[in-house]
Amino acid sequence: MARSMLKRLAANLLYRLPFLWKNGAFQRGPRRSRCSLSHLSLFKVSLAVAPPGYGEISKHYLNLGTGTKSPKPRRTIFVSVGPVSSLHDRACELYYALRGGTVDYGTEHSEIHNHSRYGRGIPQGQYPHWSPDKPLHFLGHSIGGPTIIKLQSLIKQGHFGPGAQTRMIFSINAVSSPFRGTPAVYLLGERADAAPAVRPLSFGSMVGKGVHILSFISPLLPRALDLHGDCRSLTYRDVSFLSLLKQLWKSDWAESRDATPFDVTFQAADERETNGEGNLDPNTFYQSHVARMTRARSEGLKTHIPSMYNIASLLMYLSARRLGRFDYSILSPPPSFLHPDLGEEYWANDGVVPIFSQWHPLPCRHTRCNHLKFSSQLDDDSNKLTLEPGVWYVNEEENATHLSLIPLWTGTERQQRFWRKLGEWLTTVEGKRKDC
Ligand SMILES: [Zn+2]
Ligand SMILES: [Zn+2]
Repeated sequence: MARSMLKRLAANLLYRLPFLWKNGAFQRGPRRSRCSLSHLSLFKVSLAVAPPGYGEISKHYLNLGTGTKSPKPRRTIFVSVGPVSSLHDRACELYYALRGGTVDYGTEHSEIHNHSRYGRGIPQGQYPHWSPDKPLHFLGHSIGGPTIIKLQSLIKQGHFGPGAQTRMIFSINAVSSPFRGTPAVYLLGERADAAPAVRPLSFGSMVGKGVHILSFISPLLPRALDLHGDCRSLTYRDVSFLSLLKQLWKSDWAESRDATPFDVTFQAADERETNGEGNLDPNTFYQSHVARMTRARSEGLKTHIPSMYNIASLLMYLSARRLGRFDYSILSPPPSFLHPDLGEEYWANDGVVPIFSQWHPLPCRHTRCNHLKFSSQLDDDSNKLTLEPGVWYVNEEENATHLSLIPLWTGTERQQRFWRKLGEWLTTVEGKRKDC
């Protein structure tokens, strides 16, 4: 028992950071119809290769629901994007990683945020055929979910030109995603009253300094530590050691509005929603997977505590305790949802993200959503019949942490069920798109 707990703790310590901001993708070979479907998902961040165990997923579990009609098994593509970059930068990197070409962050964005308009050149995209006739399924874990929403929003705005259309995104699945922000970023160091400023000597501040040091020596590092900082010219080939020291004193990247930490604040999420980001596309199928490892502190209270079952995941347990009693009134500006009578969904959490934020972008009253229990999702034929695009289907997992479903493949019964159901879901929604 103690050995198993130590193993789980070690796994969390080893994988927590590298997988905090991941994306990835699944894709299946063409079918004989006008519209050929490819399926993808996102997980990754800085690794361009699948984490251990994912070969088994794509070969086995993800294809259990495809039946005999599929001429080829689904293929999974993992895409590398900046682990600490903003949603905008990550979405641009994701697009060009798939299509190929030179990463273009846009003239206006690059001027506002003081970095180069262009990033790296990608001669061969991972799926160069990606188009409205060859759409992809996307799966994002944690910040990967909002990254896909940003991608969809940028496509809609014409950021990638007229050749890019929202129909290229067939479906979006998000797991434990902080669509509407998370208190965790303030606990790690973001100033609750002055984001994107970071508290000195906080964990977040240390991570920011580490990012600059790694970026400085990045030409010497293996590809697995790729931080995608090309457009910022931070390496020893581009800047002096003195310049590095200045960044270590106060970072122009980590403490800016163009980085992951600010994008997971409630302030940034509110700004995105005000600008229409997160509005549903009528042709895209949406599904979110919400993990919860807490329960109400006591009858009648809305604040939460983690269940003892999850004490094995020590870091998650400690984090869930703090999120379960977070004081939203300290935030400035106050978040749009702040109300004297908040529901318990603002304190129930998976150790990193409260469940109201994992549901979907925008409040329920401003979007279309159907909140289901995972177990009933596709076992119930009526749900299969009523699945439609332009609606968020929200599934909840009890006694699950931020890492229980993905990205670590541990082969648990819960994970096997998740991937099997996901394969079935993809097959079901493919049968509903009229032009495919
Ligand atoms: Zn940027
Ligand atoms: Zn809802």
